[in-house]
Amino acid sequence: MSIRVRFAPSPTGALHIGGLRTALYNYLFAKKNKGKFILRIEDTDQNRKVERAEEYIIEALNWSGLQPDESPVKPGDFGPYRQSERKHIYHKYIKELIDKGQAYYAFDTADELSGIRSEHEQQKKTFKYGFHNRMELRNALSLTSETTEELVKKVPYVIRLKVNGGKIIKVKDGIRGFIEVPSEEIDDKILMKADGMPTYHFANVVDDHLMEITHVIRGAEWLPSLALHQLIYDAFEWSAPDFMHLPLILKPQGKGKLSKRDGNEMGLPVFPLVWKELKGFKERGFLPEALMNYLALLGWNPGTDEELFEMDALVKIFDAEKIQKGGAKFDFEKARWINHKFLGFTDEKIIFERFPEFLECLPNTWSKKKKSDVYALLRDRLFLLEELKTQSELFLKDPAEFDENVMNKIQKHQPKKIIEQFCKMIKEGVDVQKWKSKIQEWNEKEGIPFGAIMQSLRLAIVGNLSGPDIFSVCEILGNEITLRRLEKFFNHQN
Ligand code: GLU
Repeated sequence: MSIRVRFAPSPTGALHIGGLRTALYNYLFAKKNKGKFILRIEDTDQNRKVERAEEYIIEALNWSGLQPDESPVKPGDFGPYRQSERKHIYHKYIKELIDKGQAYYAFDTADELSGIRSEHEQQKKTFKYGFHNRMELRNALSLTSETTEELVKKVPYVIRLKVNGGKIIKVKDGIRGFIEVPSEEIDDKILMKADGMPTYHFANVVDDHLMEITHVIRGAEWLPSLALHQLIYDAFEWSAPDFMHLPLILKPQGKGKLSKRDGNEMGLPVFPLVWKELKGFKERGFLPEALMNYLALLGWNPGTDEELFEMDALVKIFDAEKIQKGGAKFDFEKARWINHKFLGFTDEKIIFERFPEFLECLPNTWSKKKKSDVYALLRDRLFLLEELKTQSELFLKDPAEFDENVMNKIQKHQPKKIIEQFCKMIKEGVDVQKWKSKIQEWNEKEGIPFGAIMQSLRLAIVGNLSGPDIFSVCEILGNEITLRRLEKFFNHQN
């Protein structure tokens, strides 16, 4: 049997990293098992549908390198891949359940139900529509078949699953093992709504069956629905796919699930691509491969200390057995570190080709060589590509001021004299490559601590003690600008 898995988001907003991780695990599982990865859009709830969300999901998967084998934009043999286009299918299958006596029409109005609900609340009870009270409510089981037939033609109705009490529903989650749920805990869930649309539960089961899904890999928030889904499979006499419910993604600090709001409040990206005005991982300068590496480790680990994997390697070693049960803390610093490592081993040419938007901070007047020299020099210091902008500022602006603390510290080592010596070397045409040995020669006579020499030079060129190798900075700046900065520093010292 060939493996088929699906990622089934609802287009109710941007795809967040939890959803993206679900997509990734499905993708890895499919590729590892030479199966198919399917994208199905679950858009039956038209009220919650958000403009452009479906396009966003597709773009985000593409950017992440998780191209589905079948999707609304790449249909295979199991379409349509948008639930809103499958209404006729759900109608056919709900009829089957009604004919089998596994589902029934219910005519209770919203007002009637809310009345009963509040009566229950007053008595501190929860109202459940089910086997113990359905005969007292208005539905095809409590009414005569003639009345039902008439009502179906005249008034709005829903269709409910007939859940029998007194059974133990045994389900298996591939990550947590067997779970037993007494059927009394499950009410007669609505399968078809009054607007003629299926509910998530019904559509999901019908589609997974018809699309020949072998493994359902989804977020842990769906675990409580598993027993209900099993009952729907049983009602059809279909065998259910295998299930795996992925651990929650938790807040970086404190307790609870990571929410979109946390991202907002902590300035962390939670979306792969920009959504409304919130920057995504892409716009912050993540390589998609690095993000996939990070997300793979968010709830799974290979069982070794190794932490850096490109997609091919992930496909090879991904083992669903090693998915963890407990929630995984979102650790942005780790994501940044992984991105830093990827930037370190990704060829500069590739970066220039794939992420030109991040190089726009380097002036157009610069030659290709200069841009590439600057990138090469800064690359070890970058965690996100967006940092190129601030990191490269030292090449664009002469320092406006010099760090007072450093200035005070080096004062006793005669920084003016040191800087004068560098100016002299430039004027004499000494190549930057030779500055270090030349200044050491000079210093043998002068006896100034070498550290103070370097600090003076750095302070004059960049205004503080941070930044990459200072001789390389001077080389890229060129003699004219270097001299200008040295002289400015010299004149600043009176
Ligand atoms: N449409 C559901 C969601 O957006 C999918 C749940 C599932 O994968 O079964 O979370």
